[in-house]
Amino acid sequence: MRAIRRFTVRPVLPEPLAALGTLAGNLRWSWHPPTQDVFEAVDPDLWEATGHDPVRLLGAVDSARLDELAADGAFLDMLGAASDDLQAYLTGEQWYQRSGDADLPRAVAYFSPEYGITAVLPQYSGGLGILAGDHLKAASDLGVPIVGVGLLYKQGYFKQSLSREGWQQETYPVLDPDELPLSLLHEPDGSRALVRISVAGGAEMVARIWVASVGRVPLLLLDTDVEENPDHLREVTDRLYGGTSEHRLRQELLLGVGGVRALRVYSRITGAPEPEVFHTNEGHAGFLGLERIRELSVAEGGPGLDFDTALEVSRGSTVFTTHTPVPAGIDRFGRDLVEQYFGGASPVPGVPVERILALGAEDYEGGDPSVFNMAVMGFRLAQRANGVSQLHGHVSREMFNGLWPAFDEAEVPITSITNGVHAPTWVGREVVELAEEHGADMDAASRDSFWAAVDKIEGTEVWATKRVLREKLIKDARKRLTKSWTKRGAAPAELSWIDSALDPDVLTIGFARRVPSYKRLTLMLSDPERLKRLLLHPERPIQLVIAGKSHPADDGGKRLIQQLVQFADDPEVRHRIVFLPNYDIAMAQPLYPGCDVWLNNPLRPYEACGTSGMKAALNGGLNLSILDGWWDEWYDGSNGWAIPSADGIDDPDRRDDIEAGALYDLIENEVAPRFYDVGADGVPQRWLEMVRHTLKSLGPKVLATRMVRDYVRKLYTPAAVTGRRLNSDYSGAAELSVWKQRVRGAWDGVRVEHVESSGVGDAPEIGSVLSVRAFVSLGDLSPEDVDVQLVHGVIDAEDTLVASATESLSPVESYAGGRHRYDGDLTLGRSGSFGYTVRVIPKNDLLASPAELGVIALPA
Ligand SMILES: *Cc1c(COP(=O)(O)O)cnc(C)c1O
Repeated sequence: MRAIRRFTVRPVLPEPLAALGTLAGNLRWSWHPPTQDVFEAVDPDLWEATGHDPVRLLGAVDSARLDELAADGAFLDMLGAASDDLQAYLTGEQWYQRSGDADLPRAVAYFSPEYGITAVLPQYSGGLGILAGDHLKAASDLGVPIVGVGLLYKQGYFKQSLSREGWQQETYPVLDPDELPLSLLHEPDGSRALVRISVAGGAEMVARIWVASVGRVPLLLLDTDVEENPDHLREVTDRLYGGTSEHRLRQELLLGVGGVRALRVYSRITGAPEPEVFHTNEGHAGFLGLERIRELSVAEGGPGLDFDTALEVSRGSTVFTTHTPVPAGIDRFGRDLVEQYFGGASPVPGVPVERILALGAEDYEGGDPSVFNMAVMGFRLAQRANGVSQLHGHVSREMFNGLWPAFDEAEVPITSITNGVHAPTWVGREVVELAEEHGADMDAASRDSFWAAVDKIEGTEVWATKRVLREKLIKDARKRLTKSWTKRGAAPAELSWIDSALDPDVLTIGFARRVPSYKRLTLMLSDPERLKRLLLHPERPIQLVIAGKSHPADDGGKRLIQQLVQFADDPEVRHRIVFLPNYDIAMAQPLYPGCDVWLNNPLRPYEACGTSGMKAALNGGLNLSILDGWWDEWYDGSNGWAIPSADGIDDPDRRDDIEAGALYDLIENEVAPRFYDVGADGVPQRWLEMVRHTLKSLGPKVLATRMVRDYVRKLYTPAAVTGRRLNSDYSGAAELSVWKQRVRGAWDGVRVEHVESSGVGDAPEIGSVLSVRAFVSLGDLSPEDVDVQLVHGVIDAEDTLVASATESLSPVESYAGGRHRYDGDLTLGRSGSFGYTVRVIPKNDLLASPAELGVIALPA
């Protein structure tokens, strides 16, 4: 019989246990083991059965047990301590409050299409979401006043299982928001707080607003599954990354436009400060800039700025992070579709559709005129932008150079901030406890002193802990294998081999990630016989624990999974290589600490950063990786191994073969011998040296707190400062927009006419002083509008400046007709080939980069 309606009855907690509700209502429990202990003590079996879910635990525990706990002094003490600790965490002064810098933004809004915070809130598909979750958690730890904005998907991302033949199966369990750690935002009159957005066809999309508390950080999640919506709009928030292009466009309108409206509602109701900076995590949320332009230009009650001024205000306080160099990963819509949505009953009525279309146009060489590109719009709507590792910053500058064609790659205004991971979430409890026994303090993990404790711990202790962690992983893996094989149709009698699958004394290598082709899940299968020999080596065997989901529409990825599963099904090797279905946070948490080596073999340079290897490193795992993403930056020769990549070899099969060969060689000749080289005390001394070095060299760098501090210093604070200058009465923004138009309009008249130099004769040497005199024509512009620069440095065989620095020349004389003379001296500081040129670029201290207007003048 089907019920016609469902609802969830919330438990009533006896008064002495009220704090349990508070603890369950803040996701900080998910990275705070003592709070998890409190829930476990409520009912250990239910805690297991609910998959460590406090809300469901409290919904399921019976009232007799609650009465018992309410009279249990020891439990009440434990509960009181956890509750006091949460209060202190939520209200104490942290890094942000202590910094005393008046320029810091009062609040920052962070937009992301997915958030991976805990397994019990499955609203993520992979790295992007996990990163967003870690960003919020680290911001909370540091006291950074961030508000997260996202969508609540009714079915989240899919759950993965396998068919008998090893083909990926997807299921989409429906989530009941009442059973999630969320609360609905209400108006003061008790009604639900709603946002409304016009969509094509004249309908209005309505969304309610859920609030998740991520420590100190509120996360607003919009959801269209409400009666006010027609069916097709109720489904807008059905799944993460599913459906047609139009479906995705509606999701992104909700996230961007609806997200800004939700923030306004939230501030109005709670009194929270309005964000001064808006950060869009990848292009999906980019429409937020259009809503801000609407607020500033045509909205009733707004300041009524013209479009260009509103754009300056909004841009100045927006930060855009690009996350992928894979072209298929860039979000693009048909231009027609975008025109249809913004042309008629627009979600941002009054904002001219031609201006919107221009923002996402690929109007550069090689661009496709029929598409609307969300990353391109992201760059145009944000004055500050970044990639997520140094290498990715470099690759992004090349990839998007077309937006600033007059400038060399190095000056394309995309910087980089390397991702990080949230230690309290990802470091195994046993590891934290071991460090704390030796005087380390987890709260001080960002300081080097924490990592210095690593040297105080005996090798035998480290090694014993590592074995415990391997055992834990193996126990979890066997449970998962049994479940998976049962689902694949095996009878219990066929499964006795699982009891001895994996061995806690064997070198354990982990590989888990999404399965797009560039991550090369099956590279390890390039030579199956060789892999088999490594797995079954009589003295130095390895074992592999593998996991990963393929996007449901990607049959290529599913074929790779199938190949791997079929290899691992072979009775000869199945005790040494396992594929565990349904990679998620719950699986990841025991996986990283349980592995000795973390393998990553993407096709360079497509891994923008990668974070799983960072999580492994924080648990004393050694990375074995292609020099891509973060590893390219922080591999130092002795904190793991670099798999040489065959960049430049065009035949992909040959390249794979070469790289796979190098991988096998490394495992056989370096990794396994070192792991099994144990002394009389049973400890592999040289292995532990690498573990210690990994923790000390990488520990402080890979932290999400380091990342969030970098964002605050390098992007949020400068954006807030610009925002304030542009915002006070908007005259700064109006002047800037008028100035930009004037400079662009007059740029045709700007020329470097003639350059003279003296001081270096035929044989310049270090210490010689080069005097440069440049005659430039500025047309209708004045010297205040421009910077005339000497660009100098190393040149290559084609006279191209390859490593250059700039120095401003000084105006010394003006002549009729807009001509000016600029002078400057330069002391030659290094030997070797040297070259220079002179250029003119626009100058205004409200610009974040000299390339911002995209114009430059060089000698003819
Ligand atoms: C860390 C993590 C990822 C991202 O890993 P990458 O190395 O960036 O691919 C994906 N899924 C889960 C569950 C994770 O914990």
